[in-house]
Amino acid sequence: MRLVTFTHQGQRRLGARSGDSIIDLSTADPSIPSTMKEFLEAGDNAISRAQAVIDKGDHAISATDVTVHAPIDNPEKIICIGLNYADHAAESSMPIPDEPIVFSKYASSIIGPDENIVAPSASSQVDYEVELVVVIGKRGRNISEEDALNHVAGYMVGHDVSARDYQLEKPGAQWMMGKTFDTFAPIGPDLVTTEDVPDPHNLGIRCILNGETVQESNTSQLIFDVPKLIAYLTHVFTLAPGDLIFTGTPHGVGMGREPQLWLKHGDRVICEIDGLGRLENPVVSD
Ligand code: MN
Repeated sequence: MRLVTFTHQGQRRLGARSGDSIIDLSTADPSIPSTMKEFLEAGDNAISRAQAVIDKGDHAISATDVTVHAPIDNPEKIICIGLNYADHAAESSMPIPDEPIVFSKYASSIIGPDENIVAPSASSQVDYEVELVVVIGKRGRNISEEDALNHVAGYMVGHDVSARDYQLEKPGAQWMMGKTFDTFAPIGPDLVTTEDVPDPHNLGIRCILNGETVQESNTSQLIFDVPKLIAYLTHVFTLAPGDLIFTGTPHGVGMGREPQLWLKHGDRVICEIDGLGRLENPVVSD
């Protein structure tokens, strides 16, 4: 199931992508919640009702007649993992971590497909990072690695836009300020549920900047895989439906290049993961 948040004729609601159409789930069955977070909170029950609507195939709207937004715009938490691909740690001149490096973004940084990434004039080092994003479906604390994937609703493409000067040159080795400027968390277009992602640890992942492939890897290269991350995070805090985990980026970021390559007004960035989709955003100056 490929879930989307969309607007059609001025109304914003939840849908499922089916070929070139969007199935209008909550219009077809008003008992299906019309926002992604409420839908995820409703759990398996909502998913089976949505599947019944998709199987019927009614209430289909041409995808060209809707605007698709970020799948979710109000997660309780956005958790990000740093240096989770060995070759990216190397290009960042950092050792491979023996525990996950964790930081966060705020929901105010979320944008959807085709929305502008605003490169702030306060930073002269705005960088791209394509990432696999895990979407939590079931609440839990102290989740074991064995049980972890039962807490996942699905996956999507994410872009961890990063102002390197803010991330790395502020006091206290704080990363968050450089990671959570408004518009620095593009996600989507689809939230692909787990049954359509047989192996999240074998997905081609790439970033294409102005037509040139600048990052190209596979999620098989993750240092800490999804179960390890969920077990690690939940020994400290509860994960809730709708929470997002950005799992880290592979090598090829602009900071690690010679010469270095920073995002600027007029750029177009495509983040792509096989089976999940393609997330394209223009860059503008503020
Ligand atoms: Mn990142």
